[in-house]
Amino acid sequence: MQTWLVTGGAGFIGGNFVIGALAAGTELRIVNLDALTYAGNVHTLAGLKNDPRHVFVAGDIGDRALVNRLLGEYQPTAIINFAAESHVDRSIDGPAAFIQTNVVGTLSLLEASRDYWRALPESQRGAFRFLHVSTDEVYGSLGDSGAFTEETPYAPNSPYSASKAASDHLVRAFQHTYGLPTLTTNCSNNYGPYQFPEKLIPLIIQKALAGDPLPVYGDGRNIRDWLYVGDHCLAIRRVLAAGRVGETYNIGGDAERENIAVVKTLCALLDARRPRADGRPRESQITYVADRPGHDRRYAIDASKLKRELDWAPTLSFEKGIADTVDWYLDNAAWTRQVLDGSYRLERIGQGVVA
Ligand code: NAD
Repeated sequence: MQTWLVTGGAGFIGGNFVIGALAAGTELRIVNLDALTYAGNVHTLAGLKNDPRHVFVAGDIGDRALVNRLLGEYQPTAIINFAAESHVDRSIDGPAAFIQTNVVGTLSLLEASRDYWRALPESQRGAFRFLHVSTDEVYGSLGDSGAFTEETPYAPNSPYSASKAASDHLVRAFQHTYGLPTLTTNCSNNYGPYQFPEKLIPLIIQKALAGDPLPVYGDGRNIRDWLYVGDHCLAIRRVLAAGRVGETYNIGGDAERENIAVVKTLCALLDARRPRADGRPRESQITYVADRPGHDRRYAIDASKLKRELDWAPTLSFEKGIADTVDWYLDNAAWTRQVLDGSYRLERIGQGVVA
């Protein structure tokens, strides 16, 4: 039986990761530490309510006493750090929260992990892993060609990506200085179930269904490399199982799309499934708005190291993944409503303590 401490497991990717890892039926227990910010949502974890393998704890990665208690009590074999402030627009409005969680919080988690790891019996120390989940945004913006590799110099352009870059550097330093067995993954844009409806894809789905204007930044031609969240989660499990200590792995979907193309795809999928009452195409709702300050033009990931060393590849094409995603949001409209009205009650989940 393995125990993993997962942070940020009530968020979009962390939630999908927890659900997927426990569904895989491995001998696994997950202690899920999440501060339940606006982006964390207990409804995502409702299916695990009676699963004794899931222990939910409401709390902050920066709370040393709490993290020390969890490490001592549950003796995890791995820590997987998803917890973060993650929305670029919010980082432009208020960078401080990003520094607090992504930098100060990650540092505190690293220090607690280092002390815990050092005190492990020799026989368990070698197998312990600290896996840090990061983003391709740390590499900055690309021109018309090329793709980010693990050797691309960091050049973060937003307060969000700067805070993630700082946390990546701290993880690297803890491996180099103290020998903590770390792994870092840098992934491209994710999409799929349980994503907070401020991010492009769930935002457009929700507004398109409501008949609202569909806001598209600038000329809509910014390019992102899209990956289905389930494939990201599978990649993280591969890296955790077989990644080389101290290495970083880029994760991407080989699915570069202009934002405007993503929005038009969503409109077409929704028109086919739920035509507007007046029969007009939802593309008519598209409205161009003033560009995000410092908006990176293009991201693309070269994931060949992960494919070569760990035999990982995305299982879903963008076309299949995006259609499945639209179907999920149509079938789970209650989830979006609960998230948006923010009135959900904190409940006991699994054996967890919810403060
Ligand atoms: P999210 O915003 O949906 O979820 C973040 C979760 O972390 C929330 O549940 C929140 O409550 C929790 N959290 C925030 N501050 C915390 C704290 N101080 N202590 C404990 N929990 C805290 O984010 P996401 O999209 O799921 O991203 C997860 C991770 O993956 C982040 O580190 C992000 O940088 C990275 N990432 C995201 C993407 C993407 O496309 N969404 C792509 C690459 C990497």
